[in-house]
Amino acid sequence: MRVWKAVPLAVVAVCLVLPVLPVLLVGDAAEPAGGEPVKDVVLAIHGGEGDVSSKTPPDQVKKVEKALKDALDAGYKKMTAPGGTSLDGVEAAIRVLEDSGLFDAGKGSVFTHDGHNELDASIMEGKDKKAGAVASVTIVKNPISAARAVMEKSRYVLLVGRGAEMFALEHKLEIVPPSYFWNQKSWDELQDVWKKKKDPRSRREGRDDTPARRRHFGTVGAVARWDGTLAAGTSTGGLTDKLPGRVGDSPIIGAGTYADNATCAVSATGIGEYFIRYVIAHDIAARVKYLGHSADKAAGEAIAQLQTIPVTEPTEGVKGVEGGVIVLDPKGNFSARYNSTQMTRGYVTSDGVVTVRLFDKDPPK
Ligand code: ASP
Repeated sequence: MRVWKAVPLAVVAVCLVLPVLPVLLVGDAAEPAGGEPVKDVVLAIHGGEGDVSSKTPPDQVKKVEKALKDALDAGYKKMTAPGGTSLDGVEAAIRVLEDSGLFDAGKGSVFTHDGHNELDASIMEGKDKKAGAVASVTIVKNPISAARAVMEKSRYVLLVGRGAEMFALEHKLEIVPPSYFWNQKSWDELQDVWKKKKDPRSRREGRDDTPARRRHFGTVGAVARWDGTLAAGTSTGGLTDKLPGRVGDSPIIGAGTYADNATCAVSATGIGEYFIRYVIAHDIAARVKYLGHSADKAAGEAIAQLQTIPVTEPTEGVKGVEGGVIVLDPKGNFSARYNSTQMTRGYVTSDGVVTVRLFDKDPPK
């Protein structure tokens, strides 16, 4: 008899504990960093997360700050010129970041497992929800422009590999030899990952058995609001040591990039597989649309959700899956939300004033 009485109690206990079990196992969904929306923003960019720390040499910090400022200036100028659009702002800003060689995009892209560079990018506008993307391109100097060409000059959304490259060539985009993307910093990162692998077989399988090692830094993205239309774009070299052919979230509309005039524009950075599985960029817009949340709150919740996911490849100092987003709503409220140590970002307000932010507080002295 006693046993039968205990059963309902046990069921109740299990029901109470089950929903919080993931949290108990992987940590809480504490408020992600960032927030504090800035008002009246017309263009904002990010340069990924976790790439700058107190250990970063000051001259490197200055270079990153300058690149962000140049990108914002270029985007703002293009966008506010007669006939300029929010898409112009996003594309122009991202091109500067791609060309700088300082970020994991364009010239600074990271290497695949076999020592090549495969680049991904996407762009979207929020009025007609037109979008374009390219993935695994190896000879296109500015993948963000190729993404825009796919959006505007084809009836497709996503072109990959050789087909995307042929398309870029036909549309007279700048083509470079693959060696253009070779850069020492990313090469050293690849060597470092290889050296730290405990199990050489993991190279073949594309697994990473170096959990504390971060393999992604500096994806770039932009969000803009001009002439009543939102736009968003993202560009990346992906993850260091990724298997050839691996495509992350950055060129996937709804995962790494999304723009919808009724809700917000989003560009993401982080471990792409989870951004695809949780459709993070669209999830943020959906929270705004269906729950009536602000873009900032929606972004905070989406990132908090990442913090509750048990991961096989945890990043040191990060709970759950590492990731961050920038969001801009139709009224110009901008914020960044992330669960890493920092997120590189900057914005321009409608009066043309440029602000860049590498740290949440003043840079560590
Ligand atoms: N999200 C990118 C990818 O998974 C990487 C990054 O954001 O750093 O390809």
